[in-house]
Amino acid sequence: LLSVSGLKKQFSSERRGAAPVKAVDDVSFDIEEGQTMGLVGESGCGKSTTGRSVLRLIEPTAGKIEFMGEDLTALSSAPLRAMRRNMQMVFQDPFASLNPRMTIGEVLEEPLIVHKLFDRASRKRKVAEILDVVGLSPSYADRHPHEFSGGQRQRVGIARAIITRPKLVVADEAVSALDVSIQAQILNLLQDLQRELNLTYLFVSHDLAVIRHVSDRIGVMYLGRMVEAGSCESVYSAPKHPYTRALLSAIPREHPDQVRERIILQGSIPNPAAPPSGCHFHPRCPSCMDICKTQAPPTTAVAVGEYVTCHLYR
Ligand code: SF4
Ligand code: MG
Repeated sequence: LLSVSGLKKQFSSERRGAAPVKAVDDVSFDIEEGQTMGLVGESGCGKSTTGRSVLRLIEPTAGKIEFMGEDLTALSSAPLRAMRRNMQMVFQDPFASLNPRMTIGEVLEEPLIVHKLFDRASRKRKVAEILDVVGLSPSYADRHPHEFSGGQRQRVGIARAIITRPKLVVADEAVSALDVSIQAQILNLLQDLQRELNLTYLFVSHDLAVIRHVSDRIGVMYLGRMVEAGSCESVYSAPKHPYTRALLSAIPREHPDQVRERIILQGSIPNPAAPPSGCHFHPRCPSCMDICKTQAPPTTAVAVGEYVTCHLYR
């Protein structure tokens, strides 16, 4: 359904004369219809920027984004607006950008009005239906966001995203602000909706447990680059990139007899405005070699559908 290749997003630096920040640096991945791709990495790694660039909510600097057979980067604003019906976003706080005086009904009706879908009476009916689909009472349409708990608000955020019947939903830290028990309910809702509506997800999160729970494939990002990608199972059971290994060593094991050494990374994430030379990970990498300090590693296919960007796998 979605094929992203060579995606780049640069932001100009605040300091005059300084090099631009490469927030997303040559990222490629595909997502098949009905599947979930998880993007994981620490804050500042470019995963949110990737998610937003894919929907062209921010303009990519370079790259190709093929979605439903069209190259999104080539679309002018009118056809892009029409295409938005098919690709929606769920945010961490669904109400952050909305007028707090709007009722839930108005919040949910808005995408239908924007895309000129249905007449007024049918829109009201669609709003009632979608509330029911996400497990909320249709009578909530007259209430305001502040009357709801975090979990209920996120149900509304999901309802708003799927009311136009999109094919692709980008979820950016969609459960990160919620208590763990509520997180599980929302993740289960998203998975039920995926089955019922054949949705495709790009799921962005810093939380490795969440990503493991929802993803078919995952991509691990570090300082704007995709360092490892593969099926969820293969990446979690046999991580290859030293950064992925370190990240995964920090989460609880699935089986008590699984042996996994805790790898403590030295130092903190470097400033994305001045990333280390060669492999961006080299100052923190336990396996760093001389070549890593000067040459960016190539991306190598280590098995079918599995890619690692590291000199160890050349
Ligand atoms: Fe470590 Fe070198 Fe691989 Fe980078 S390329 S992750 S520094 S071994
Ligand atoms: Mg983010």
